[in-house]
Amino acid sequence: MARGRHTRDRDEKPLARYQRMRDFTRTPEPAGDPDRLRTDPDGEPVFVVQRHRATRLHYDFRLEVDGVLASWAVPKGPTLDPSARRLAVHVEDHPMEYLHFEGVIPAGEYGGGDVIVWDTGTWTRYKDGEPPPAEAIRKGELHVELHGQRLKGKFVLVRTGREDDKDLWMLIHKHDEHAVEGWDAEDHPTSVLSGRTNDEVAADPDRLWRSDLPAAEASVELKRDIPEGPGEDELAALDELGKEGTWEVFGRTLRVTNLDKVMFPGRDGEEPVTKREFIRYAAQIAPTLLPYVAGRALNMHRFPDGAGAKGFWHKALPDHAPDWVPRWDNPDADKGETRTYLVVDEPAALVWAANFGALEWHPWTSMTDAPALPTYVMFDLDPGERTSWDDLLTLARLHRTAFEHLGLRAAPKVTGRRGIQIWVPIKRGPTFDETRAWAEKVSKSIGAVVPELVSWTWEVKGRKGLARLDFTQNAVNKTLVAPYSPRPAPGAPVSVPITWDELDDPELRPDRWTIRTVLDRLQEQGDPFQTVLHQDQRLPKVR
Ligand code: MN
Repeated sequence: MARGRHTRDRDEKPLARYQRMRDFTRTPEPAGDPDRLRTDPDGEPVFVVQRHRATRLHYDFRLEVDGVLASWAVPKGPTLDPSARRLAVHVEDHPMEYLHFEGVIPAGEYGGGDVIVWDTGTWTRYKDGEPPPAEAIRKGELHVELHGQRLKGKFVLVRTGREDDKDLWMLIHKHDEHAVEGWDAEDHPTSVLSGRTNDEVAADPDRLWRSDLPAAEASVELKRDIPEGPGEDELAALDELGKEGTWEVFGRTLRVTNLDKVMFPGRDGEEPVTKREFIRYAAQIAPTLLPYVAGRALNMHRFPDGAGAKGFWHKALPDHAPDWVPRWDNPDADKGETRTYLVVDEPAALVWAANFGALEWHPWTSMTDAPALPTYVMFDLDPGERTSWDDLLTLARLHRTAFEHLGLRAAPKVTGRRGIQIWVPIKRGPTFDETRAWAEKVSKSIGAVVPELVSWTWEVKGRKGLARLDFTQNAVNKTLVAPYSPRPAPGAPVSVPITWDELDDPELRPDRWTIRTVLDRLQEQGDPFQTVLHQDQRLPKVR
């Protein structure tokens, strides 16, 4: 909304400025073919008003004119009150594809923030003798009658700025039967499409506007359906095996062993979890887990004798792994360091790892094609002995507030043990040193709010039972547990992604879900972690 950015060359083609500002790297699609994109069956031009929380809150008032959305940013929002004159800053045309966009614009991008469709409908002209709309806009005065859900009646847009301030306009409602004294847009805070507020969309967005892509591809779905795991017949075949055998799943034939061995003690009087049940879970969760682990080295936390015995880190893919198991040789491995890692690029590879006793799954924060560049910044809220669950929720809520303030999408998950972790997806670029330094600054700002809850002492003993906000895992080959990975504890608890709102659910516990309950939750509520799969954010500067 900074006005200096909207100085506009009137001779530019529609959208040229939009495309230039967004630094398109590919040839843009021919956006705004009116016939292809027209949304009104009667052929009337359409309008939209989007409530957009960027650096500053404003409403974007957009009218379809010649196949693009002519646009004004209205800081206080349009009104039905004819005595109110609303400042409207003429901004660059937007592509028609943006018409009903509702979601988030990545932090660090132009307009980064959240957007709801606050009103939409059609518009008609009512002023006899007014030139065609594009010409009327050039001349600085356009009369429009809006047929929206909230905005109805006759409006006029009129340029008030002088030659050096050509983008300053006023938006005024005429005295007509739709006029309402004192009407304020802020009294109507929801989307007319979804009923959601900006807060709700920001907390759980369905879509992302990737302004670095051509308009036709810019609106990116953040949610996908939970993919199907193995079918009933395949699961039955596993159940029917004896102590060991071969199991055909995901197009592979796997040797599975010790199927009746207890892998997790039971909890709360429940039956213990056998290796067969654990392998079954690995197969069922694999399609959901795959996007979080594919293309990344996977460090395996192995418990060959089950969670009741001691485990150990196993990073190297063993020589006996079948040839089809995907792998990666780390070119930066020093002498004595692991060179060949498992990469779960296909679901059967996770089943193989489960049979190998890899009870906990820890994907790298970077991908194998650029191991020095993280795609997430990770926050590990690690409770001390004296940290209560309520204390931890307080810390998690402070993180939520911080990320809201910074305009960043971040996704929380319970660890399955006692903690909460938060992943912030980023565009590759910063090194681990940089992400770690950034996370340290954010963590220390948060910790300063509640010094009674947090210790910065490295050694557990010196921490006096307080929580640690651990930024040090932001380093190459340091990992946090994957979403949906089991944890080595009785009952086979799972690290489960949650929505921010669930922090306020009195039933929430860090180990609430197990491999026996998490699949039902996924079917019912979907996977709120998918938002981290779009690694598109730039880290804002923090002090
Ligand atoms: Mn805007």
